[in-house]
Amino acid sequence: MSKADLHIHTTASDGRSTPRQILENADKHNLEIISITDHDTIRGYQKAAKIADEYDVRLLPGVEITSDFNGRECHLLAYCFDPNHPKIKQLIAQHYKSRLARAKWIVNELSKQGLEVDIEEVKAEANGSNIGRPHIAAVLIDKGYVASFKEAFIRYLSDQSLGTIYNQYYSHHEVIAAVKEAGGAIVVAHPGNLYSDEELNELVTAGIDGIEFIHPSHDYSRQKQVEEFADDHTLLKTGGSDFHGGDKEYQKFFGVVTINTKYVHRLLRMTDQRKAINV
Ligand code: AMP
Ligand code: ZN
Ligand code: FE
Ligand code: FE
Repeated sequence: MSKADLHIHTTASDGRSTPRQILENADKHNLEIISITDHDTIRGYQKAAKIADEYDVRLLPGVEITSDFNGRECHLLAYCFDPNHPKIKQLIAQHYKSRLARAKWIVNELSKQGLEVDIEEVKAEANGSNIGRPHIAAVLIDKGYVASFKEAFIRYLSDQSLGTIYNQYYSHHEVIAAVKEAGGAIVVAHPGNLYSDEELNELVTAGIDGIEFIHPSHDYSRQKQVEEFADDHTLLKTGGSDFHGGDKEYQKFFGVVTINTKYVHRLLRMTDQRKAINV
């Protein structure tokens, strides 16, 4: 089977591997097609695109966009859009600002609980990457407030412990429109048990093109359910490892949680048609 991985993070967001390391490892694991899907940034993809021809791997444009879905954060994966389209540039600029403002909000929430974290420490931890909660978690570990990422999320950083997280992300409607205008495909990431079928139907009505059915958080029965949902609604099916590098727990998924390239070819046919119509 020829394999693809359409969900990978790098040091451009909260992943631990550089874009080059991802390409090297993808080549080693005989992945035919990959997409680098950092949180709200395409810098990792752009770096990889410059050097991709040194490796026997096909690289597709990708990004994991955080959208505001009725006041909740909803991760949407975008593929094969024009990275230079003004709508994509606008969205990414807005989400960069939103991530910084959101990190400041989270730091302020932590201070109410007696945890002293300075936004400058979080920025230093992110070191130019798009800021996310894992960077805040790393500062909490450094300062001895928690012993592990897991503890940081369980006690302080999960959606449940923070309540409604302040954000200025585009709504799911705006994200879907921008990606389609840029000729891309837009896919609901790791539905897992995050959404009811009603909510998934709402996303379908809003115009999503596909749904991620293969993901490390999906057991076989959830995978089958999502697959059935996709087939019932004529949606594209995608998948990948959601690789973030780092500890052994996650390392094991790279090259293992993959999809058959036939699913990617369907996606490519769709985005080729969309680009032809958009012109
Ligand atoms: P953010 O982009 O700020 O919303 O942070 C989300 C990211 O945090 C996810 O993509 C994961 O990389 C990480 N994350 C979320 N939940 C956990 C958790 N329970 N333990 C460790 N990392 C997590
Ligand atoms: Zn992440
Ligand atoms: Fe995600
Ligand atoms: Fe992800």
